[in-house]
Amino acid sequence: MSFSSNSLPPAPPAKEDKFYRARIVERKDFSLDLWRIRLNLGAAFHFAPGQYATLGVPTPTKHIERPYSIVSAPHEDFLEFFLELVPHGELTPLLYKLQVGDTLTCRRVAKGRFTLDTKKGHKNHLLLATVTGIAPFVSYVRSLYRDSKNSVIQHRLFLIEGASHSWEFGYREEMEKLAAEVPWLTYIPTISRPWDEPEWQGETGRVEDIIRKYADLWTLDGQNATAYLCGHPTMIENGKAILHRHGWQKDSLKEEVYFVPSNQSAPKSTWTWPWRRHGLAERGAA
Ligand SMILES: Cc1cc2nc3c(=O)[nH]c(=O)nc-3n(C[C@H](O)[C@H](O)[C@H](O)COP(=O)(O)OP(=O)(O)OC[C@H]3O[C@@H](n4cnc5c(N)ncnc54)[C@H](O)[C@@H]3O)c2cc1C
Repeated sequence: MSFSSNSLPPAPPAKEDKFYRARIVERKDFSLDLWRIRLNLGAAFHFAPGQYATLGVPTPTKHIERPYSIVSAPHEDFLEFFLELVPHGELTPLLYKLQVGDTLTCRRVAKGRFTLDTKKGHKNHLLLATVTGIAPFVSYVRSLYRDSKNSVIQHRLFLIEGASHSWEFGYREEMEKLAAEVPWLTYIPTISRPWDEPEWQGETGRVEDIIRKYADLWTLDGQNATAYLCGHPTMIENGKAILHRHGWQKDSLKEEVYFVPSNQSAPKSTWTWPWRRHGLAERGAA
């Protein structure tokens, strides 16, 4: 990808020692605004499942960087991310243009504490995600799956993922396949606009709408489980309030909020996601 220099000053050089120059080795588009990339860093990158990496694109005026949860597990030989295009955003329109062979920057150090808490004694983990918020949970699952080849998994993961439409579930097939195979994973995808998809047979409603139902069904509470909420700030706020009323205390809740809604910078229509109506398949792009 190239940027026209025009009369702009040259891009400030990214301090090479802080960054890897990561190459995109694979790209898969799930819908018009959701895609996955796999990166080759050409070097070791240490992280725990649930952590995030800082990706960036240098432009003629500045180096734009944002945090992204890592989808892949530490044992995999690529770094994977699940990305959503924010049309009015600074970085994602640049990331969206990048194709296989293009490079971006990745800070050398992974960060974050949104890791699977296996120390507190809770063996049950209620994982709540909206769309790309499933990223850290896929990393947990892939890691445990690898561990399960050598030891019995003592933990139980209960994953609820919400989206407006089914084509936003980038990892549904993988999660359903694993949930059918192993006893320690349960996966429920739910869509909030079922009237657009009469053929949808699964759960409906937002994540918040079905938390109580499934917590009761799975007999999970703040005494026997830790809850993890990841993605859209509204789901996290509402979800925490619902769990709190259900007896979950702060030390049994973990959260990773992806962005702060800004009425100034975001067009009002963003809240209803009107630009996410059609999946690629609907447009014939498969
Ligand atoms: C720890 C962490 C992990 C993250 N992991 C992921 C991930 O795995 N995948 C991913 O796609 N994003 C992830 N994000 C969000 C990501 O860091 C960026 O905020 C996002 O990609 C938008 O960047 P941008 O520069 O395009 O938009 P910006 O220029 O940063 O944002 C412009 C405005 O758009 C609004 N906005 C930002 N994101 C959204 C959104 N998704 N929907 C609606 N409005 C929005 C905000 O109000 C913001 O003021 C994560 C954020 C954090 C803090």
